[in-house]
Amino acid sequence: MNVPFLDLRAAYLELRDEIDAAVRGVLDSGWYVLGGQVRLFEEEFAAYCGTRYCVSVANGLDALFLALKGYGIGEGDEVIVPAHTFIATWLAVSRTGARPVPVDVRADTFNLDPAGLEAVIGERTKAIVPVHLYGQCADMDAITALADSHGIRVIEDAAQAHGARYRGRRAGSLGDAAAFSFYPSKNLGAYGDGGAVTTDDEALYERLLALRNYGSVRKYEHDDLGYNSRLDEIQAAVLRVKLRRLDEWNARRARLARRYAALIDMPDLQLPVVPDWAEPVWHLFVVRSGRRQQYREWLAARGIDTLIHYPVPPCRTRAYAADYADCRMPRTDSLVDEIMSLPIGPHMDAAQVAQVAEGLAGLDRQSASG
Ligand SMILES: *Cc1c(COP(=O)(O)O)cnc(C)c1O
Repeated sequence: MNVPFLDLRAAYLELRDEIDAAVRGVLDSGWYVLGGQVRLFEEEFAAYCGTRYCVSVANGLDALFLALKGYGIGEGDEVIVPAHTFIATWLAVSRTGARPVPVDVRADTFNLDPAGLEAVIGERTKAIVPVHLYGQCADMDAITALADSHGIRVIEDAAQAHGARYRGRRAGSLGDAAAFSFYPSKNLGAYGDGGAVTTDDEALYERLLALRNYGSVRKYEHDDLGYNSRLDEIQAAVLRVKLRRLDEWNARRARLARRYAALIDMPDLQLPVVPDWAEPVWHLFVVRSGRRQQYREWLAARGIDTLIHYPVPPCRTRAYAADYADCRMPRTDSLVDEIMSLPIGPHMDAAQVAQVAEGLAGLDRQSASG
C-alpha cells in the first residue's frame, strides 16, 4: 500500500454531493464575482476566526500584500519576517517596495524567535509578519507586546493555520490583521486559488474592500490605485461547504499526529515540539534528522512520499541572495538540511501512519544490524 503525501481527491469524494450542488448553485445563479456566496463566506470565516471582518481576495500572497499595503507600508519601510518560511511571506513585503528584514527561528518550534526582534527593530520598521508555520502559532504574546511598545503593526501569516489556537484564541485574531490562503492543499482549501484577510480594524477593512476591486467601493468611483484581487463565487461556495468540516478534519489530523508521536521513537529523529499554549492544526508533520536523505530514500523505496518544507530559505534563493549575502541565520541554515515532512491529512488513516512509522524504524534496525 502506497502512502501519498496528501490525497485531495479523497477529500472531494467525501463531500462530492455537497460540493457539486454548491458549484451548480453558483452556475445557475448567473452571478460569478463579488456576490452572495463571497459575502456569506466572509461573514462565516470572520465568525470562525473570532474577528469582526474578513475580506476575501485572490490568493494568500495577495492577502499578505494587501494587508501591508492597507497599512500604508511601502518604499523605504522595513518589515520583519522569519528567516524560515515559504517565500510568499517575503515576496508580499518586497512587492510593497519595503525591505524584508529576517529574524532567525527557534530550533525547537521552527517559528519566529521573539528574542531576535529587539535587535532588528529600527526607525524604518513598520510591521512584523510572524508565520504560524506548519499549522502551529508563533509565540504571539511576546511578539505583540514588543510591537505595541514600538508602535508597529503585527500581520499574521496564517496561510498554514486555519483553526489553530494560541492560548485558546484562533489564528487570524491574534494581531492587527491576518492573511490566509485557500490554495487546494491548505487545511481549508478551494479548488483553485483563494485568500482572505481577517481583522477587527474597521478602517483597514474599508481600505481592503476598495484595494481588491480597482480602488473602488461604488462603481466608477476610484479613490485609490487599486488592484483586481477577488475570490470568485464558485470558490466561495466550495469554501462554505468545507469550512463546516474544518474542525472535524483538523481533529483527524491531530489524531494522526498523536499516533506518529506515540509510534516514532528513534534517537536521531526529532519530533515536532508543541508548547503548552499551542493547539496546532498539523498542516504539516515535520521531523528532523541528520540522516534525512537516508530516511527519505528508504521511505520512497517503500512507496511512502515525503517532502521538504522548505529546502532553501528565502534569503538564500537566487531572487534574494545578492541582497542578503551577509545575512547570518545559523538555526535556519542548519535546520533546512535536516527537516522532512511526513504524510498527514484528513484522508489518511491510522494504518498508514503505522506504515510510515514502521518504515522509519526499519532503516534504524537495518543500520543497527550493520
Ligand atoms: C501558501 C502560503 C502562502 C501563499 O499563499 P498562496 O495562496 O499560495 O498565494 C503564504 N505564506 C505561507 C506560509 C504559505 O504556506
